[in-house]
Amino acid sequence: PGKKVLIVYAHQEPKSFNGALLKIAVEELTKQGCSVTVSDLYAMQFEPRATRNDIVGQLHNPEAFNYGVETWEAYKRGGLSKDLVEEQKKVQEADLLIFQFPLFWFNMPAILKGWMDRVLVQGFAYDLSKVYDGGLLQDKLSLFSFTTGGSQEMFSKEGIGGDIRYVLWPMQHGIMHFCGVKVLEPHICYAPENVSEEKRKEMLAAWTQRLKTLWKEEPIDCSPEWYFK
Ligand code: FAD
Ligand code: ZN
Repeated sequence: PGKKVLIVYAHQEPKSFNGALLKIAVEELTKQGCSVTVSDLYAMQFEPRATRNDIVGQLHNPEAFNYGVETWEAYKRGGLSKDLVEEQKKVQEADLLIFQFPLFWFNMPAILKGWMDRVLVQGFAYDLSKVYDGGLLQDKLSLFSFTTGGSQEMFSKEGIGGDIRYVLWPMQHGIMHFCGVKVLEPHICYAPENVSEEKRKEMLAAWTQRLKTLWKEEPIDCSPEWYFK
């Protein structure tokens, strides 16, 4: 109770299975007494492109544009665009970040990747040598909750897609852990389009059930071995 949760949600359709998972998380966590904020990226028409427009005012080096350097400098002087400042504030306040999305090409949808690219700037999320366990967003948890088209068998080590953990490596380790955020076990709903209505209801009930004891969970051991052992 009293915990703050930010759900970054990337689906266009509220009636989708992802929409149902979002609704469950908002309802269940609110019921627990958490304060829940949702960044509904498509509804916000969130800008995914990392461009010059993210910097307000003079550039540090107008001769040759370097996005990483410019956003870092802009962050330090309070010169990032308003939409980024708002997202950073939500991240800063959150104890837990939940990312809810459908898997697109073994990855997160572009709009969510754009959120990562633009919000987690140097100086805010990490800094020179302040990375991984030393990252700037410590004492926060993250959870990747997503749906797939492929079945669980396809995403096994011997399956045609390979272990689903390979997909999680850039998200959990490359982004969250890099910024110092701890990672909870991912929540994956396989192939909601291809299973029975009964199975879908079961998957939704399992999410509700997991959320009930979420705060008792320990983070995973987010090391290379977890993914590639
Ligand atoms: P929906 O189609 O919205 O939902 C599935 C079913 O659940 C629907 O029948 C819906 O009506 C029903 N439903 C909704 N709410 C409820 C409820 N409350 N109770 C019961 N039923 C409900 N998949 C992969 O595996 N690997 C990939 O690399 C990949 N790349 C993709 C790339 C692109 C560009 C696209 C568009 C898709 C890709 N996919 C991939 C498939 C994608 O991951 C799935 O289509 C997606 O995860 C399905 O989730 P959804 O929320 O959109 O499902
Ligand atoms: Zn890691």
